[in-house]
Amino acid sequence: MRPAAGRPATAAVVTVGTELVSGIAIDTNTAEIALALAGAVVEVREAVSIGDDIDLLADTLRRLVASHDVVIVTGGLGPTHDDITREAACEALGLACSRDASIVERLRASVLRHTDSRASELLLAQADILNGARVIPAVKGSAPGQVVPTPRGMLVLLPGPPREMRPMLASLVADLAGEAPQPYVVRTSGMSESDVQLVASDLLGDREDIRLTVLAKLGDVRVILFGRGATSDQLRVAGEAIASRLGDAVYSTDGSTLPETVLALARARGATLALAESCTGGLVAASLTDIPGASDVFLGGVVSYADRVKCGVLDVPEGMLAHFGAVSEEVARAMAEGVRHITGATHACAITGVAGPGGGTPGKPVGTVWFSLAAPEGTTAFMRSLPGDRDAVRERSTVTALDSLRRALNA
Ligand code: AMP
Ligand code: MG
Repeated sequence: MRPAAGRPATAAVVTVGTELVSGIAIDTNTAEIALALAGAVVEVREAVSIGDDIDLLADTLRRLVASHDVVIVTGGLGPTHDDITREAACEALGLACSRDASIVERLRASVLRHTDSRASELLLAQADILNGARVIPAVKGSAPGQVVPTPRGMLVLLPGPPREMRPMLASLVADLAGEAPQPYVVRTSGMSESDVQLVASDLLGDREDIRLTVLAKLGDVRVILFGRGATSDQLRVAGEAIASRLGDAVYSTDGSTLPETVLALARARGATLALAESCTGGLVAASLTDIPGASDVFLGGVVSYADRVKCGVLDVPEGMLAHFGAVSEEVARAMAEGVRHITGATHACAITGVAGPGGGTPGKPVGTVWFSLAAPEGTTAFMRSLPGDRDAVRERSTVTALDSLRRALNA
């Protein structure tokens, strides 16, 4: 993207769908698009969600293409009567559509599945391309994307379903980025957002050729360096310096997620993993099993919610539960050792805490979580007082458990 000299390219994102403005579905496309565009040195200045309303959408697009270099619209490109984005774009830009024969050909199989001619006509409307537009072929799904030139830049139409939108966005960003380097991302866990921010901004100083963003999500903190003139090599050197100063808080600089890192470390060490989860109710196991191929190192886990299961399955002594309570160092250790014993894993992690909103006491308020790690070197345990509501405590506990496994496997 090459905007007028001396000013960064700006963008607006428009998400279309009545479900998005009525509380039925949550817009996740805007965030993905804004982050992806930042890597292409295009700054999103406006984000708008609009119901399936052709006049409102046409008016909005008319305004946005006049004030931004790039306008990206997602949703409303499908084959149902409420899919109005193509028509609204035609109206806003004063363009007509033409039916693209090669897309019609590709849609043929789906058309043949319908006996009602009205359904076939709606399906074929997906082949209507605004005059002068470039087609972004569909990798998943059937609706193609379109890039329509505008006086200031371009209007881009993408499908709403994130899995269909994503591959098209990636190809669009690659085109827009041109020479701009890929952002360099340093991912950390176990360190606070403000500490990470200070380390990164101290090291960068007031460099104007690199823009720093710190993104934090419940214990998982990312430093993202965007090139604003810096080359890829310069970004990498700066990123590596920050990573080295952040030390063992860093879990990846290659895009790997925390669960992916834990599995890769276990694999590299020939270790196997097991879990005993109480307040996280299986979230840690779910995050590991989300990743294909986890079964070679993750053996399994026990969701030991009730004391009866802690005793009966994990062999936590009843007297220990009665004396120290389920949320205690002693019980966390016994849970980790118990699940390590029954699974035969080399590394076992246990989590037991008060997620709230009820169940807190003055001695053990909501957010008190004990973690234990049973490993060949012995068993360790630590406590965290985690802030936030039930969801936040459970999510932070999950990240903390994964972080403790990562550090143990790294040791
Ligand atoms: P559409 O392209 O309008 O047919 O969208 C189809 C489906 O994609 C919707 O029902 C949503 O589930 C999903 N979707 C559309 N827009 C978004 C968005 N902005 N964020 C997340 N999901 C979306
Ligand atoms: Mg829709």
